[in-house]
Amino acid sequence: MVLAELGGRISRALQQMSNATLIDEKVLAECLNEISRALLQADVQFKMVMNMQNNIKKIVNLDDLAAGHNKRKIIQQAVFNELCNMLDPGKAAFVPKKGKPNVIMFVGLQGSGKTTTCTKYAYHYQKKGWKPALVCADTFRAGAFDQLKQNATKAKIPFYGSYTETDPVKIAQEGVDTFKKENCDLIIVDTSGRHKQEASLFEEMRQVAEVSNPDLVIFVMDSSIGQAAFDQAQAFKQSVAVGAVIVTKMDGHAKGGGALSAVAATKSPVIFIGTGEHMDEFEAFETKPFVSRLLG
Ligand code: GDP
Repeated sequence: MVLAELGGRISRALQQMSNATLIDEKVLAECLNEISRALLQADVQFKMVMNMQNNIKKIVNLDDLAAGHNKRKIIQQAVFNELCNMLDPGKAAFVPKKGKPNVIMFVGLQGSGKTTTCTKYAYHYQKKGWKPALVCADTFRAGAFDQLKQNATKAKIPFYGSYTETDPVKIAQEGVDTFKKENCDLIIVDTSGRHKQEASLFEEMRQVAEVSNPDLVIFVMDSSIGQAAFDQAQAFKQSVAVGAVIVTKMDGHAKGGGALSAVAATKSPVIFIGTGEHMDEFEAFETKPFVSRLLG
């Protein structure tokens, strides 16, 4: 089920509840069950869906609501708030400070859109007058450096990498040092992905983080990853101090549920979403407008 469909289904469930002449336990339960089914089919984790149900039931205690209360409004607001809460870990992500050498490290599985997103992120800040730079600490995937180099050249962003050096830790250290000396204020370190959550990938990531000393680690996640999102995000969080999430490929057949799970697993907010392959197909993420748009 794609994201727009999820929103449509939740809206319809709320509408149906609203149309009932009397909102009793049964009508509320039917509405919440339909919303839960929609979320589960959009790959939101079962536990999160159950939590949401319980929270709403607690808020909307029909017996306690005096006759004068507008039950429909209260239920609608509770659903809206719960969806926002699922996307809001309660703490903001690190915000880069202009004029300082902010180091931002990107992690994620191969194919998640990490390298593309590094450039999008750099380009986003460059347009606002920042001085970004890209470091390719991915020596595992053949062609990773070429890809980063191509993207960076197109956007006129300085880059650092090597065709011969095989140690990503060394490259990360040299790259970050170089750009600090050049007074870049946003030094972005792209790391290796791999297909699976292998122990060696996590060890390498830990070492790259140690020498780069990032102000922020961003976990990049493909929105179509589905139910695997929670475990995947959690595995990354356990290895490095993930502080923000970027969800890619929100165009096309994004289910969106994975984003909710990634927030829960990393206890970090989504800061941007990728909406296409091009450099400027990238949007700052804001929870309330996103949920409003979702519900139409
Ligand atoms: P990496 O292995 O994680 O570094 O992934 P890449 O950056 O190489 O991206 C993998 C593929 O996903 C490429 O074909 C990208 O063009 C594509 N991609 C990345 N972000 C997006 C996005 O937001 N939307 C779409 N449609 N494609 C994307």
